[in-house]
Amino acid sequence: MRAIIVHGGAGDAKKAEEISVRVEVVKESATEGYSLLKNSSSAIDAVVHAVKILEDHPLFDAGRGSYLNEEGEVEMDAGIMEGDTLFIGAVAGIKRVKNPVELAKLVMEKSPHNFLIGEGAEEFGKKYGIEFAPFDYFLTERLIQIWKGQYGDTVGAVALDDTGHIAAAVSTGGTQNKHRGRVGDSPLVGSGFYANDIYGAVSTGIGEDIMKVVMSFRIMLYYPSISLDESVKKVIEDLAKANGKAGIIALDRNGNISFGYNTKGIFKAFIKDGMTEVEGGY
Ligand code: ASP
Repeated sequence: MRAIIVHGGAGDAKKAEEISVRVEVVKESATEGYSLLKNSSSAIDAVVHAVKILEDHPLFDAGRGSYLNEEGEVEMDAGIMEGDTLFIGAVAGIKRVKNPVELAKLVMEKSPHNFLIGEGAEEFGKKYGIEFAPFDYFLTERLIQIWKGQYGDTVGAVALDDTGHIAAAVSTGGTQNKHRGRVGDSPLVGSGFYANDIYGAVSTGIGEDIMKVVMSFRIMLYYPSISLDESVKKVIEDLAKANGKAGIIALDRNGNISFGYNTKGIFKAFIKDGMTEVEGGY
């Protein structure tokens, strides 16, 4: 069974004209990730590919289009996890890497560590020829005009490959006008993302809330005693009890796909074996 679900953020999307474009792009990301899975690529390669499409698109808060911190700088975070090995790679506070998810993957594969930050992370990427981009690349017209009060355009993907392995990846510019040096949930294993050999999940929303309930790992409190859908529902209830607002996408080793949120919506798209076309929406 091959399956993939991607998200393009949970939040209060206010610009109607952007909603349809963003739905189309998350659908494209899921479709492209799925075609890799169909060609026997690993779940890791599928989630990286899916996340890169969203990082490259200026309407998402990841890679190009990342929200600026209060000093007007870009500081991006990303994380990745391979379910069967429990290998982890994460980066935080990086400023010039074109695709932060690629750097997270490099940390997972080439470093003895799990998590690198700032200049040290970028130096590590340089050694392996990671692609950098100038500040102008990240700064889009949308950011210059961005409206207040919007959150949740982070991106993420979870995939199940032919061999039964699951992977999860996340990438974000963090929250708007954040304090310099602020790191949210996204690169924190367990909070922003988690994968083992039975399920994988990625969360999105207010990072400070997501951390309180260790949201992506929290599914393990319930699953597999109850279904994935019911587990996701419980996680959202726990989040709400902690006064949090966020969303989550998940899939399990049987190809069950689920998502939940208590924000206005979540941009998501998914496809798996047996489906004739990708499903998506906000
Ligand atoms: N969770 C991310 C953060 O707090 C933001 C988001 O998901 O949009 O950095």
